[in-house]
Amino acid sequence: MTPQQDFVMKTIESRDIHFVRFWFTDVLGNMKSFAVSPSELEGAFSDGMGFDGSCIAGFGVTQESDMLAYPDASTFQILPWRPSSNAVARMFCSVKRPDGREFEGDPRLVLQRMVQKAADAGFTFNVGPELEYYYFESSEGTKVLDRGGYFDLTTLDSGTDLRRDTVLTLEGMGIPVEYSHHENGPSQNEIDLRYTDALSMADAVMTYKQVVKEIARKYGVYASFMPKPLEDEPGSGMHVHQSLFSSDGKNAFFDQGDPLGYNLSMTAKRYIAGLLKYAPEFSLLTNQYVNSYKRLTTGAEVPAYLSWGHKNRSTLIRIPGYRPNRAEACRVELRSPDSAANPYLAFSAMLAAGLAGIEQELDIPDPIEETNLFEHSRWCLEGKGLEPLPLNLGEAIERFKSSELMRSVLGDYLHSYLVRAKTEEWEEYQKHVSRWELDKLLPIL
Ligand code: GLU
Ligand code: MG
Ligand code: MG
Repeated sequence: MTPQQDFVMKTIESRDIHFVRFWFTDVLGNMKSFAVSPSELEGAFSDGMGFDGSCIAGFGVTQESDMLAYPDASTFQILPWRPSSNAVARMFCSVKRPDGREFEGDPRLVLQRMVQKAADAGFTFNVGPELEYYYFESSEGTKVLDRGGYFDLTTLDSGTDLRRDTVLTLEGMGIPVEYSHHENGPSQNEIDLRYTDALSMADAVMTYKQVVKEIARKYGVYASFMPKPLEDEPGSGMHVHQSLFSSDGKNAFFDQGDPLGYNLSMTAKRYIAGLLKYAPEFSLLTNQYVNSYKRLTTGAEVPAYLSWGHKNRSTLIRIPGYRPNRAEACRVELRSPDSAANPYLAFSAMLAAGLAGIEQELDIPDPIEETNLFEHSRWCLEGKGLEPLPLNLGEAIERFKSSELMRSVLGDYLHSYLVRAKTEEWEEYQKHVSRWELDKLLPIL
């Protein structure tokens, strides 16, 4: 056993842990889990624990569905919302096939590979996501808890205690939080995690969603990460701040000699150019549901055009203006992803796009500073040569399907699985005749 595995075994003894939950995610980023008793753990570290993958999205057909979960001891955490005697802990797992081959449908593996690719090029990929979500009275409907708005701190904001409890629980699990506040929508909230390397962050995002939902349940309410649950209110985004650090621990995005005056290095500019080039192709991963495109195309404060700017919140990519001379803080914020994305695949796609920009030495287009893109019509922006993100899931599937970059990041198995599964979703949605159509058309046709 490794020293980390040894530490896990000792902690299990000393902290009265009776259940160890194995966590992993399906292709869409839904958490899957089963509990193992401590006596099984030593064997699980060396030989994995078997489970039936056939019921898990993207995990194989019935004839070939035996899978093994191998726990990653470095992710061991006690679940603080469970009792302290006969306590419960969790570890994230990698998934393998019985013959020992890595399972190519495991999203965590995709990110591990991508992060390794960045390491081979001399970089650590750091990310800091801002996840937004709504509290509703229950999962049955969209009755909000308050009428608060952005940064409100009044009795209007009934989420205060919920957020406090959520932040304390996350910090108790070793996940540092940078900000938490009420967002623009009624009973919409945001908690921002302090940046770290992409794999730890993807695990942290999965934990975060679980914690937000668990704490909501404790208070008898429901938390939702649906991209656009309310027609007339803002959607829930997951802005992702990102940077590459070199092996000497320095931020490779920072350069005070930048002729544009943005303190951005050539590496950062090529990375941005890569994100802009490939954003339409990876949109299916950052915005993976029919509903995602309702946020992207009609949402307030949501960028829909391939564009970048310094401080400009209407562009797809923003270079935050806080602490411009602090090297560590220099980063790029991609604003299209939503809270329902699978963080493993979304982070992999962004990193792949950025690295491709560096490899291909892409030129960065001019920034957009003066124009508030939200104030201009689609016709006007397209007339000025700005390219939109896919308008709906159908377009996103088409761009993703023909993307060689996405195929190489995900591998053939996951790439074609997603094309198939998402096409089914899109076709099912297309069949649906909505209330809107009936209201508009039935009286006149
Ligand atoms: N809720 C907005 C979105 O859907 C973002 C608001 C903000 O700037 O934080 O992306
Ligand atoms: Mg926000
Ligand atoms: Mg932001």
